[in-house]
Amino acid sequence: MKLFWSVYLLCFHTVTELLEGDSSRKIVEIICRSSWLKSENHCVRIDRVLKVHNMQKTLARFEDYREAVKIKASKLAKKHPRCLADGNELLRFHGTNLACSLGMNGSSSLCVSDKCCLCRIIRYGFSMLKGGVGVFTTSTSGRAFELIEINEADRYTRKALIVCRVIAGRVHRPLENIQDMAGQTGFDSLAGKVGLYSNIEELYLLNPKALLPCFVVICKT
Ligand SMILES: [Zn+2]
Repeated sequence: MKLFWSVYLLCFHTVTELLEGDSSRKIVEIICRSSWLKSENHCVRIDRVLKVHNMQKTLARFEDYREAVKIKASKLAKKHPRCLADGNELLRFHGTNLACSLGMNGSSSLCVSDKCCLCRIIRYGFSMLKGGVGVFTTSTSGRAFELIEINEADRYTRKALIVCRVIAGRVHRPLENIQDMAGQTGFDSLAGKVGLYSNIEELYLLNPKALLPCFVVICKT
């Protein structure tokens, strides 16, 4: 059974729920809650936490992208130690919505509804929006949560936060006009809003391969 499950995970993108008390779940809760407090006075209400099982080819693509960023950084005259070390990997939040019952009652099957952004991201990876600057991420769960747009009339749609590993690479900051900056070469990501202590609160990744979804936090509305 264990072998079957391992093979299954290699072949399909899927998720499993992390139950209350699970050590990974505790870590995800801490990441969400500690980063929420910086900007908000109330806390994200966590309904469920899911672990994303990425396919081997998705992991390989993420690692290939990291190598490409490191090689690019090694050719620059100005050295960026973090880029050379690990491609400047960060943990970030991406807010999205969920229109199905993923994670509910042990359900781990991704839906095919075009209204369900979460399942689309887990199945196909992140994508660039038409005319968009890049894939938007935040350093705080609160900021990611408040920027999620959901149709209030549709009571089945909920907010979800994807906790991602991100290869930020060379970050362009500060930002005057992001539309102008997007065409510039040499940068891997663009800082939007920079918070206190020069923490990059909002970051746009210029390549969707730079993001690896790891956990999903489904929020209570
Ligand atoms: Zn779905």
